Amino acid sequence: MALGLSACHPGEQPGRAALPSAASASAASAAASTAAAVERLPPSLDGIALAAPDASAVRQPSSPQAWGGARSGRETTLSDRVVDYQIEAKLDPEAHTIEGKQRLSWRNRSAVPVRSVYLHLYLNAFEGEGSTFMSEQRRLGFSFRSEVPVKKGDWGFIELKKVQQAGVAVPWHFVQPDGGPATDRTVVRLDLPQAVAPGGSTTLDIDFFDQLPRVLARTGYFGSFHLVGQWFPKIAVLELPGERGATAPRWNAHEFHLHSEFYADFGSYDVRIDVPDGYTVGATGELQGEPKKQGGRVVHHFVQGDVHDFAWTADKRFAPPLKAIYEGEGSPKVQVQVLYPPEYAHNAPVVLKATLDALAWFSRTLGPYPYRTVTAVVPPFNAKEAGGMEYPTFFTADSYADQTPGTLAHFGQEFVTIHEFGHGYFYGILASNEFEEPFLDEGLNEFWDQRMIHARGQRASVTTAALKRLGVGTTVDVFEAERLGAGLKDPPDGLGQNSWHRHSSGSYGSVYSRTATVLRDLEAQIGREKLELAFKTYYQRWKFRHPSTADLREVLAEVSGQPALVQRLFEQHIYAAARSMTGSRASRAWRSCLCWACSSGLMAGAASWTKMPVQSRSTRCAHSGRRIIQRLPRPRKRRTRRRARPWPSPGPSPTARPWCCAGTVWLCRRPCACALPTAAWRRCAGTTSSPGPASAGSSRPRPCPPSWTPSASTTWT
Ligand SMILES: [Zn+2]
Repeated sequence: MALGLSACHPGEQPGRAALPSAASASAASAAASTAAAVERLPPSLDGIALAAPDASAVRQPSSPQAWGGARSGRETTLSDRVVDYQIEAKLDPEAHTIEGKQRLSWRNRSAVPVRSVYLHLYLNAFEGEGSTFMSEQRRLGFSFRSEVPVKKGDWGFIELKKVQQAGVAVPWHFVQPDGGPATDRTVVRLDLPQAVAPGGSTTLDIDFFDQLPRVLARTGYFGSFHLVGQWFPKIAVLELPGERGATAPRWNAHEFHLHSEFYADFGSYDVRIDVPDGYTVGATGELQGEPKKQGGRVVHHFVQGDVHDFAWTADKRFAPPLKAIYEGEGSPKVQVQVLYPPEYAHNAPVVLKATLDALAWFSRTLGPYPYRTVTAVVPPFNAKEAGGMEYPTFFTADSYADQTPGTLAHFGQEFVTIHEFGHGYFYGILASNEFEEPFLDEGLNEFWDQRMIHARGQRASVTTAALKRLGVGTTVDVFEAERLGAGLKDPPDGLGQNSWHRHSSGSYGSVYSRTATVLRDLEAQIGREKLELAFKTYYQRWKFRHPSTADLREVLAEVSGQPALVQRLFEQHIYAAARSMTGSRASRAWRSCLCWACSSGLMAGAASWTKMPVQSRSTRCAHSGRRIIQRLPRPRKRRTRRRARPWPSPGPSPTARPWCCAGTVWLCRRPCACALPTAAWRRCAGTTSSPGPASAGSSRPRPCPPSWTPSASTTWT
């Protein structure tokens, strides 16, 4: 494993006076790759390795005993708790800072003594241009949502002030497990004075200081609004053999990447939040009694067990919360509240109803909701970067100026709410590793959200209030909309890739839509009942246990009774990263397949359908049920005659590809990766002729060159 590592003086964090500039960050990045940089950091004290940067798309199923074994519901706690956090946080809403004191207890589940542990310091992604997060945004041209510019004074960071184990100072070193720039300080290694014995626990006393950024990438402030996420030193996960493909104990810690979300152990959180009087506070978990007032400040005390993160919000502009109670079979009584600013009061009822609807759907189709609270937050004007983010029992919805029913804005708010609540199951309770296997959370959640909307007969509204008044009320089937979002113009990353080895932001985004589309196709092939039973089984078997890609695959194969079909689907779509194209090569191959038809948005959706398993002998589209218009392979003798012509190499994936849109499917006989010029492809698409360079402009039907002719047994991957 090649690691890019850097070190500061043990027990000391570099000052914040001179945040690294882009130029210095680049230079530092280069320096990080030198052997000298590696040599400066002493090895961990126990020799336990970090998970490799590309530890994704797990193929080996986890053992039945993984994560303490399946939860029967008869245990004293919902999860096999590993961590315990007791935190006191004092907010200065004028300076947007937090003084924090944290007592962290961690249990060593392994059979070996542990001397070095790793903490995530996520807020340091926003301390300057030198972080991995900002480097990826700048260097790769990736973007995050609104790409809100960070100006002077907008940066944020977290600083360790003190770390002690049993009263003894603990030295620390910043590390870059994924080989990011040496200026990235989002992961820190603590070298403990005392080893943590196998099965034993240790307690660390940590003082820290947060400077929140101007709201950016799910955390920060705007005016008096504060969304406080990824804000405390958070210990990484020590994975054991038999868990997510690990063969020896390994630390699963990664730098904070642009598109990456999170992964952590289950445990309990006891958090006291100290804010000025007049601020409304919402947070993960249950409020313990009435908030305590003293000296113009108020302390809110929240407790929640069996979760793996804690986030909160504070604003003096929040209107009185909108509240409701959910009661469902198998669930405790759930208190639901929506916090919202006055300018978006009309959003609150939409968010509340969608949350209650989602509670009912997920409880019925996956399993009862196990917590007693749900808090949804509507971000204020100018804080859109805080919207659409999930935390345990707490999430942010979106903010819209208009909420006229039957419009895109209204549907958008409903969908975001359902989606963020749904994360409470896939990210919250199943707790997949979002660093390495984001499709297990984002993709599966997207699929289940759309099934909910589809099941209640709802379609996506794509009109505005003004157009609606004119009588334009266009709607789209939600799974058709997913296909639109899975356009092939994005390079073809495998869905099982980690969250940062991506060809583009759009390619990462297709984790949502392509997963939903692929699973919709699977449902069409195995039937609704088996698909629903498989997801219920997956949830019951793996709740509170961090399942991997292989664990999902095994459940689908077992319950569907069609292991070959499931295996093929996973090889084609989930593990497809094994093709390991470089970005430029993938893009070039992709462009060669963009015909006139799929260059428009609608047809881009049609192109996405080509990611479906090829059903070249089927006469019906598995998705729409409509008739497929297809052309069969040409006679072999014609291929032979053409083989003598010089022609560009076909690339690695010759195949028959169905082009489906509005119920019509053309079987394109052109290999996807043929690297032919786009112009030649345009002349060919959707016609009965396949003109090569010699026939440019000719309308006379001509046979395809041999390299375009698919093998009957070849499938598109
Ligand atoms: Zn999501």
